[in-house]
Amino acid sequence: MALKHDWTKEEILEIYNKPFMELLYEAATVHRQHHDPNTVQVSTLLSIKTGGCPEDCGYCPQAARYHTDLEGNDLMSVNQVKAQALRAKASGSSRVCMGAAWRNVKDGEEFDNVLEMVRSINKLDMEVCCTLGMITENQAQRLAEAGLYAYNHNLDSSEEYYKEVISTRGYQDRLDTIGNVRKTNVTVCSGGIIGMGESEADRAGMLVALSTLNPQPESVPINALVPVEGTPMEEQEPVPIWEMIRMVATTRIVMPETQVRLSAGRTQMSREGQAMCFFAGANSIFAGDKLLTTPNPDVSEDMEMFKMLGLNPQKAFEKKSQPESVAAEKSKYRSQGEKPKWSRPEHKIDRNLEAQEKAKTKA
Ligand code: SF4
Repeated sequence: MALKHDWTKEEILEIYNKPFMELLYEAATVHRQHHDPNTVQVSTLLSIKTGGCPEDCGYCPQAARYHTDLEGNDLMSVNQVKAQALRAKASGSSRVCMGAAWRNVKDGEEFDNVLEMVRSINKLDMEVCCTLGMITENQAQRLAEAGLYAYNHNLDSSEEYYKEVISTRGYQDRLDTIGNVRKTNVTVCSGGIIGMGESEADRAGMLVALSTLNPQPESVPINALVPVEGTPMEEQEPVPIWEMIRMVATTRIVMPETQVRLSAGRTQMSREGQAMCFFAGANSIFAGDKLLTTPNPDVSEDMEMFKMLGLNPQKAFEKKSQPESVAAEKSKYRSQGEKPKWSRPEHKIDRNLEAQEKAKTKA
């Protein structure tokens, strides 16, 4: 059956607000039609460059302008990354996702090193994902040639609510980066965060933006906000588990073939809550005791949970064949020293400005 690409906010809200049992049943049915319900993909998230980010994302402890206890680090070496990838593989991960706290990728030595990291992880027969900020088409092509399997670039929320979270870039920049990735054979991973103070209509709005992309993203992470002291969202109430399950189930129904990733916020969820998310269609998790900078359950705890629920980790390249890694010297695409003009809306977000002021007094 052809996938529906014209979802409206009203249709999605109607699904989100169905009686709970009906919603769960419908999502589980869709899930079984498109996926093996006992298989869950396990990714390891690796922060290859932490902190010092110039952006003002209201949820993020890596933004340099807020005062958090985060210890930053410069870009890791290729060998360090390779060693961590080997460890992740040994503990059952089929994918390594490398995150760098950059606004956008800049051509040069650091990006060349990231390309080398991609090549070396692909050679370990693991899926490689990167989340490096905004990228141009040429940069996406170079990542693809290096053997990148997926590129993550979250929409975070609805277009309307995005303006309440981030002032240093616009929603269209996000969509343009996703569009640049789509011009290559790299798969798209894009999702968002709930619990930032958004309305149900904003949650539906984000799912409209994602589900009307054609093709729909291969992977959609659903994060529950982890409020970090010092960030503008430090006082947000935790997301009730019922809302998380509703969000996962709705995502599953509107994007049947996508891998729905249970991402940040799992430490606040019971195993029963996580089991319901898997039943409702979540079929991927991030493993490792840290999710970039916020806490995450230990790998052994996850494997124990998998055993209890009869879940099996998905093997690498089960959904799409392994990309070839082209050596740097044989590359068709070269560094262009591009200086792309990504937007800087710089509108005012009161809570971001307050957190910034507070940080100055603490510094
Ligand atoms: S979410 Fe990414 S872009 Fe935003 S402040 Fe954090 S590291 Fe920077």
